[in-house]
Amino acid sequence: MTYVICEPCVGVCDTACVEVCPVDCIHPPEGWSKGDDAAGVQLYIDPDECIDCSACEPECPVEAIFAEDEVPEQWQKYTQINADRFK
Ligand code: SF4
Ligand code: SF4
Repeated sequence: MTYVICEPCVGVCDTACVEVCPVDCIHPPEGWSKGDDAAGVQLYIDPDECIDCSACEPECPVEAIFAEDEVPEQWQKYTQINADRFK
């Protein structure tokens, strides 16, 4: 399984989740780094690297992170959106 970052991250991107991930599998888009304009930007979890530890989930101030099997209906597409970032 994996954890998935959903729509609430867009425009927030405070990177609190990145700080706690033990395997460093949460990444922004290429060329974006903390402090840059976050409009339209979100972070992504690499589904092949995520070890399902859940450490990131409670750190997110906007509740954007869900276990793959708990992604809300309206954000289902984000599972693929996260995976596509790492193709
Ligand atoms: S569940 Fe754990 S391993 Fe997966 S992205 Fe979150 S902190 Fe990283
Ligand atoms: S903690 Fe939440 S809002 Fe901040 S970068 Fe991670 S997923 Fe996005």
